[in-house]
Amino acid sequence: MRFSQELRGQIVAHALEDAPNECCGLVGGGAGAAATVYHARNAEESPLRYSVHPSDQFSIMERMEEAGEELVGIYHSHTVSAAYPSQTDINLAEGWPEPLYLICSIVDPDEPDVRAFAIRDGTVEAVALTVE
Ligand SMILES: [Zn+2]
Repeated sequence: MRFSQELRGQIVAHALEDAPNECCGLVGGGAGAAATVYHARNAEESPLRYSVHPSDQFSIMERMEEAGEELVGIYHSHTVSAAYPSQTDINLAEGWPEPLYLICSIVDPDEPDVRAFAIRDGTVEAVALTVE
């Protein structure tokens, strides 16, 4: 998926802002490219798990529709582990297999690591993120 440096920066900023809790949000776009990063609240308010706050999810999906975007990604941060889906993340993705999952690790806050994955039927596949 194509991603701009600015959008990547918005995810990293959100991760640092919500630390030590995980942050989360949605990414709108289309045709293999991300267009907008939408910050959401983590309903779990936890350093170990996330769930996109239901009312945020609802309002973001409305804004995406108005902008003519599709849901292309769901992002969250890892504050104490690498940018790779946990078993919790894999389980959570079961109900939502279409979007890509972006994980921003800020284990080293000076070197944030953002990676993308397709998670389908319990299988994790790394997806190239082209940051331009
Ligand atoms: Zn996770």
